[in-house]
Amino acid sequence: MGRHAWGWGLEEAAIPLEAVRARVEPFFGASHALTGSPAEVPSPRVAAPPRLAAFSSASTASRAAHAMGKAYPDRVRGFRGDFSSAPDLVVTPRTEAELIATLECAERERLSVTPFGGGSSVVGGVEPRLGPNANGTLSLDLGALERVLEVDVVSHLARIQGGVLGPALEQQLTAHGLTLRHFPQSFEFSSLGGWIATRAGGHFATGPTHIDELVQSVRLVTPRGLFETRQFPASGAAVDPNRLVIGSEGVLGVITEAWMRVRPKPTFRASASVQFTDYAAAVNAVRELSQSGLQPANCRLLDAMEAMINGVVFDGSSVLVLGFESASHSMRGSIDEALRITARHQGRCEQGAQVREGEGERAQDAGEAWRRSFLQGPYLQDALIQLGLVADTFETACTWSRFDALYAGVTGAMNEALQRVCGGGVVSCRFTHVYPDGPAPYFTFIGRGREGAELEQWHELKRAASDALAAHGGTITHHHAVGRTHRPWYEREAPPLFLDALKAVKRTLDPAGVLNPGVLFD
Ligand SMILES: Cc1cc2nc3c(=O)[nH]c(=O)nc-3n(C[C@H](O)[C@H](O)[C@H](O)COP(=O)(O)OP(=O)(O)OC[C@H]3O[C@@H](n4cnc5c(N)ncnc54)[C@H](O)[C@@H]3O)c2cc1C
Repeated sequence: MGRHAWGWGLEEAAIPLEAVRARVEPFFGASHALTGSPAEVPSPRVAAPPRLAAFSSASTASRAAHAMGKAYPDRVRGFRGDFSSAPDLVVTPRTEAELIATLECAERERLSVTPFGGGSSVVGGVEPRLGPNANGTLSLDLGALERVLEVDVVSHLARIQGGVLGPALEQQLTAHGLTLRHFPQSFEFSSLGGWIATRAGGHFATGPTHIDELVQSVRLVTPRGLFETRQFPASGAAVDPNRLVIGSEGVLGVITEAWMRVRPKPTFRASASVQFTDYAAAVNAVRELSQSGLQPANCRLLDAMEAMINGVVFDGSSVLVLGFESASHSMRGSIDEALRITARHQGRCEQGAQVREGEGERAQDAGEAWRRSFLQGPYLQDALIQLGLVADTFETACTWSRFDALYAGVTGAMNEALQRVCGGGVVSCRFTHVYPDGPAPYFTFIGRGREGAELEQWHELKRAASDALAAHGGTITHHHAVGRTHRPWYEREAPPLFLDALKAVKRTLDPAGVLNPGVLFD
């Protein structure tokens, strides 16, 4: 099975355009398929240093595959055949010693280095860029560092290499009856090192779902040497050195290994979907749930538009997809209590709860319709691009007390921007995570593109979205990272002295500035 040249995932899994056309025409009118262009990849500026020859490639195919991430503008550029950002060289170290040799070589030969995990960045984080005074660019593919090296069954810990992709990681842990239980939507094509570097969020709505909580200790190879943290379940000793690495987005060093907190696979499950006529009542229900201590694994509130475009319901209701799971005890009590809370807010659960004790068939309910649509989402975006639509998502987190104004402000700003930029469109929202102090709303927008102008249209829409989030007290990202795309807004929300301190750390660990120029800061 082959990776898609410019789009998401595997070519074989692409959604047929006709199926998507039928879904979008009711919203956007008749559409036609655009024609992509063959890939244009510039010649390399520099030759591979002999020391790296045994584990590097300058082939056109491999350089094109490392030219950019999977954001909307990346995919449009790929569709148009623009691979001008391709690195001069792709290096795939098989050992940490080869990785150290690569960094030494890059410093000496003045090559900018971009660590590359799965390449699923949606913020321009994985795109090679020439730093000031650099002669060329090198994409450092960590894909050969893909093993679970050690499992501490007693402590529920596993030592795992940074380049392993989600499915291979889970497969190796399954042999021990364990799971990392970290499932971002990009799970199949993103890596442990990438998750740690970007502070990824898994798809569980509450409890340990952010990679931050799953990292026990890390091993970072920096141009100045090794930065390895000690294995403690917790420590009160000054500032946590793990926290310097988690979220460092490849600018301080390369994560080669981490001890991760793993757990037995859950076998007890309960789920339900609840419909609400009134969105405000649904939000109140989810707030009460998030503050109840019940900790649902799934607690996704889809607003009416989100429910409609995902094919869950079409009657203008909002839908709450609820799920609980445990490796040790029945979830019947939890789901019953959650449904008592939603009923107090006029939530209707017509199908009742589905409870599974042990592995069994998945229920064919709205939750399952939602799950299918969740996994197809990235493939759908590729089809929308080919049908000439500007379609993307953005996400944030805010306090409960600010949510109503943020929702109204952001959907209002996006409807206005879609009208101005695309002549109309749709914007929808779901919660991906909920905390006792606030939700993480995730917005989708789709508008009609003008052939050849899609990138300019996207930039205008993205600016409108980001400005609206900042104006209403939302962070520029809950889990998509900063990269280069979110930098202007990140610089506004981070304390200036903190950014100065981070730059000082960068100067200490990467004094020649070879790693990821332009990501997080200049
Ligand atoms: C369809 C789709 C769905 C997504 N869903 C989610 C989601 O549910 N949750 C979520 O959090 N994100 C999601 N993302 C964003 C993306 O998948 C995450 O940011 C992910 O963590 C990136 O992992 P990766 O291995 O692909 O990293 P890459 O894209 O390869 O790299 C991301 C950044 O990390 C750096 N980096 C990578 N590996 C290392 C390493 N070993 N050491 C140091 N730096 C490194 C890179 O230089 C780059 O700056 C999604 C993206 C797409 C396209």
